[in-house]
Amino acid sequence: MLNIVMFGPPGSGKGTQSKLLAEKLNLVHISTGDIFRQEMEEKTELGILAARYIDKGHLVPDEVLAGMFQTFLDEHNNGLGFVCDGFPRTLPQAHELDQLMLNRQLEVSLVLALDVEEREIIDRMIKRATTDGRADDTREIIHERLKVYRKQTQPLMDYYQKQGKLHVIRGMHSIDEIHQYLLDLIRQHCK
Ligand code: AMP
Repeated sequence: MLNIVMFGPPGSGKGTQSKLLAEKLNLVHISTGDIFRQEMEEKTELGILAARYIDKGHLVPDEVLAGMFQTFLDEHNNGLGFVCDGFPRTLPQAHELDQLMLNRQLEVSLVLALDVEEREIIDRMIKRATTDGRADDTREIIHERLKVYRKQTQPLMDYYQKQGKLHVIRGMHSIDEIHQYLLDLIRQHCK
């Protein structure tokens, strides 16, 4: 079973690429960001709590996320593999995912990290703000999110590198080119 973690800074295109891969390979797409946005829209308790962090460009604390991924997987998995988009973002979350996989005698198959220059990211996110209207895509919050990414999420690359699962992909190409490249990588892995 193919279980992919899509990794990269905010604005790197990991959401777009995750959706394309999930569609193409018939995998479940799990986006913790989408889950939070849905909860925020519905003004649930979780949504109201998460908004306090998301609106500032900070990560929602690990304690709040604990169990959330497992619940989503139980509800949506249907025995298929998954593409994980935006989870894990911290080392405790990566440990939780490993444990969860271990309990099911599964494992993360590969981690695909999109690497995009910060200047390009900022431009993309400012553009996205005008098309998608995301409240956390203002210039100030984008800078905060990039800072948080460098400090809390980037260290995970080391973690997955040591497990021999990390593949870094330059994200400065077209959406379609990157998609094809990712598909080739995955096919190589599955040989
Ligand atoms: P995303 O759509 O993946 O960029 O997520 C939007 C926001 O949701 C992030 O900036 C975080 O504040 C929050 N978020 C999403 N996933 C996580 C996670 N795994 N851990 C903590 N916060 C998260």
